[in-house]
Amino acid sequence: MSSYIPVIGLEIHSELLTKSKVFCTCSAEFGGDKNSRCCPVCSGMPGTLPIINQTAVEYAVKAGYALGCSINKFSVFDRKNYFYPDLPKAYQISQLNLPLCINGLVPIEYEEDGVKKSKNIRINRIHLEEDAGKLIHDDLNGVSLADYNRCGIPLIEIVTEPDIGSAEEARCFVEKIALLLQYVGVSDCKMEQGSIRCDVNISLMKPTDTEFGTRAEIKNLNSLKSIYRTIEFEIKRQSRLLDRGERVVQETRRYDDNKGETRTMRSKEDAHDYKYFPDPDILQVNFTDEDLARIKGSLPEMPYQRLERYISAGIQEKDAKIIVNSKRLSDLFDDTLKVYNNPKSVANFVIGELMRRINLGEIDLEKLNFTAGEFAKVIEMADTEKVSKGDAKEIFREMSEKGGSPEEIAKARGMLIVTDTGKVLEVIDEVIAANEKAVNQYVSGDVKVFGFLMGQCSKALRGSATPKVIKEELEKKLKSLVG
Ligand code: ADP
Ligand code: MG
Ligand code: ZN
Repeated sequence: MSSYIPVIGLEIHSELLTKSKVFCTCSAEFGGDKNSRCCPVCSGMPGTLPIINQTAVEYAVKAGYALGCSINKFSVFDRKNYFYPDLPKAYQISQLNLPLCINGLVPIEYEEDGVKKSKNIRINRIHLEEDAGKLIHDDLNGVSLADYNRCGIPLIEIVTEPDIGSAEEARCFVEKIALLLQYVGVSDCKMEQGSIRCDVNISLMKPTDTEFGTRAEIKNLNSLKSIYRTIEFEIKRQSRLLDRGERVVQETRRYDDNKGETRTMRSKEDAHDYKYFPDPDILQVNFTDEDLARIKGSLPEMPYQRLERYISAGIQEKDAKIIVNSKRLSDLFDDTLKVYNNPKSVANFVIGELMRRINLGEIDLEKLNFTAGEFAKVIEMADTEKVSKGDAKEIFREMSEKGGSPEEIAKARGMLIVTDTGKVLEVIDEVIAANEKAVNQYVSGDVKVFGFLMGQCSKALRGSATPKVIKEELEKKLKSLVG
């Protein structure tokens, strides 16, 4: 096979987390009984008037700022006309020539052949539109049923320039977009609920070509894995065609997850096929400078800002990145610091113990059995030597499996270290009496044996003194012998 350069552009649709739909007051929540969340506006009755949801507009603008876009102060909604049973109005309200946001830039970091790389992906535009309904195909009875609950849920469509060069870059990019949208708080980006879906546009070119090749568009991918596999499959399929001297047909294709391949769905439509025109029912959007300044000012702390904050708190960059790359993890981390402000120690426990067990599938960040306060407590108990480091992990295991307060678990399982100085001195005397040789070595300057003596004391004192106290008392005693 000759080597071709893949040219990939993505169109990402993401549902916004508004309470109500984008042009009516119906609930925009996921789920609900079929057709229980619709009204004359979103089910396309003639003569109804859509009114734009201001929060949806602001969320789209916030997404634009999060993705480094410029915001158009003047923006227009258009009708995109097509007939399909999931679209009762027979047009979708969308934006064509004057979208809310344009010209963004999103940096990604990824690994290729073991080498860390980074790249900027340009965003062509972000526009606001409405979602369509859902069709349920009942093969048994040979009918299709329509559920209009999803009609009118606000969506943003993020369109990239064709800057993506591989399946891995695409995967990283979509992950980054989901992360940014989650941080900015406008979408939960739950792939499994379809709240973020992706169309892949892909063509191949030879290194010597000066123009892009003909692209195929693969619609409606709803997992990172399917995006990755689609791109890998298309690169092979298109390479084979070009190698044989055949042409890639410009068309819309569908991905079949069971077979891991794409199939022709329909020939690709052009914008003019939709007969777009400005929607006369919807007011145009005009932002003042103050509006935009207010929205921009309401952006929360973004991932790169958190990363800087963590690094300046002394956390290693690679650990800080792991924490920041999950909004949930990062929120838990910050909530833990509010109760126990020891960033390095909390980060060590998060990376060493929490992440380790998340990766083993033993802990699910979406469903934690403990609070940030309890998490803070168990780390603090280990740091202040109220329990041993090993026991702290055991306590954490129990609270993450069954819940419960760390203090109570420690008490119930006899893990609390209660320092009894009298006993410490007694044991030290016994150990010194029983290890004359080692003690003489120490006295004559061979301080290496301290560790051995310390070990003997710790063993005898298990649970009744902290290592710190044992060390202090043993040192005191041995120094007095030297003296
Ligand atoms: P359409 O409106 O027909 O879907 P757009 O011009 O809006 O087309 O582009 C849709 C997406 O396709 C964008 O992400 C763009 O970067 C990408 N794209 C355009 N041309 C090509 C090409 N030749 N190969 C791969 N991707 C392309
Ligand atoms: Mg398109
Ligand atoms: Zn409605």
